[in-house]
Amino acid sequence: MTEASSTAIIIGAGHAGGELAIALRNEGWAGRILLLGEEAHLPYHRPPLSKAYLAGSVEKSSLSIRPQAAYDRASVEFLGGVRVTRIDRANQRLELADGQQLSYDKLAIATGGRPRPLSVPNAAAAERCSNFHYLRTLDDVEHIREQMSAGKRLTIVGGGYIGLEVAASAITLGLQVTVLEALPRVLQRVTAAELSAYYERKHREAGVDIRTNVQVADLDVADDAVTAVICADGSRLDTDLVVVGIGLLANTELAAEAGLEVDNGILVDEHACTSDPLIFAAGDCTNHPNSLLGRRLRLESVPNALEQSRVAAANMAGKDKRYASVPWFWSDQYELKLKMVGLAEGFERLVLRGDPQTDSFSAFYLKGDKLLAADTVNRPQDFIAAKRLVAEGISVSSEQLADDSQPLKELLPPAQA
Ligand SMILES: Cc1cc2nc3c(=O)[nH]c(=O)nc-3n(C[C@H](O)[C@H](O)[C@H](O)COP(=O)(O)OP(=O)(O)OC[C@H]3O[C@@H](n4cnc5c(N)ncnc54)[C@H](O)[C@@H]3O)c2cc1C
Repeated sequence: MTEASSTAIIIGAGHAGGELAIALRNEGWAGRILLLGEEAHLPYHRPPLSKAYLAGSVEKSSLSIRPQAAYDRASVEFLGGVRVTRIDRANQRLELADGQQLSYDKLAIATGGRPRPLSVPNAAAAERCSNFHYLRTLDDVEHIREQMSAGKRLTIVGGGYIGLEVAASAITLGLQVTVLEALPRVLQRVTAAELSAYYERKHREAGVDIRTNVQVADLDVADDAVTAVICADGSRLDTDLVVVGIGLLANTELAAEAGLEVDNGILVDEHACTSDPLIFAAGDCTNHPNSLLGRRLRLESVPNALEQSRVAAANMAGKDKRYASVPWFWSDQYELKLKMVGLAEGFERLVLRGDPQTDSFSAFYLKGDKLLAADTVNRPQDFIAAKRLVAEGISVSSEQLADDSQPLKELLPPAQA
């Protein structure tokens, strides 16, 4: 049990922060709970920003994770438009950009990340232009949507998930879309060559101009607009609109300046506790141990943000809960629902089940007789079974995985009651 006079503060009102606040109350925290967010909005779903919301097929009102009434019911005080500038651990106090100071008994850091900036000579000038964008927040996407009209030339820098999702949404709206990827294939950091080839083909069939092995060297800026993207091979791409999606930098500065241990993310243990026992952290900003994988990692995914923040909340409320989840992620492009589980790093064999030509197939990453990871396209049943195969380390053979006539769930032992 916690004291009614205790105050818990959560810095960051994204997926992790919002969930943590509500979970903390559900776990029995009796005192004040303050949820501080730099963005003005209540916690909202980020995934639709590059998918359905960008394409205009869902309303803004559907983006909120919970209505204000849910925070009121849990007596969670949400303060939006508030930036924390310093954690004073010695006095258990926060300093805010507006000069306020707030005291905490327990603190959670859920500051997420920000887009990795494009490093080219004219980047600073481009960032002042209304047709140059990164995509992380609802405000970012509002600016992009204002400019996305049919016929415009959109250049997307980066062929990762966000870049490809933006491409799929934009081509559907009738823009002329080019994706520039520096590596030899799209999604190279996260999937096998077969999956990259599949996605490149689907985008090209939809009319997207996918260019790989293309390094962006600079941007032409004239009259407060980016007018062209200059590539390292000297080619020049005239453009009306630029969206850059080249990765994320974790927001760890507050933690580092407060002397907490940071190494590619705020270091936390399996209880989501930082190197200060009064301070917890969850979501994209953390580097956490994963006992299933036997190593530390920093993840950028909604399931991680939600599950880790529930663990942080339980431990902040004095319980003993450990985080041990198998990583998973999804991406929607066109009618293709990709769901991935596990981490493929170190795989020895790739096994396909089903035929990519049918837009319903799965790719399994095997090491010995263990499944490390799976990418499933329009195959929710394969995903559910693969999640257990990965999490429980169940032995499987390539032949069993490839045999599409045998449902994958038949490879699973009965679930424990
Ligand atoms: C366009 C897009 C599409 C995505 N699609 C998917 C998907 O399909 N599937 C999936 O699993 N994941 C997806 N993700 C990733 C997912 O949204 C993130 O993993 C998730 O939002 C992480 O939650 P978080 O709370 O850790 O961080 P965030 O959601 O980034 O929240 C952190 C919050 O902290 C605030 N903050 C930071 N510093 C301070 C400070 N000093 N003071 C106050 N507030 C502060 C920030 O303003 C922000 O609102 C997508 C992300 C984007 C941007």
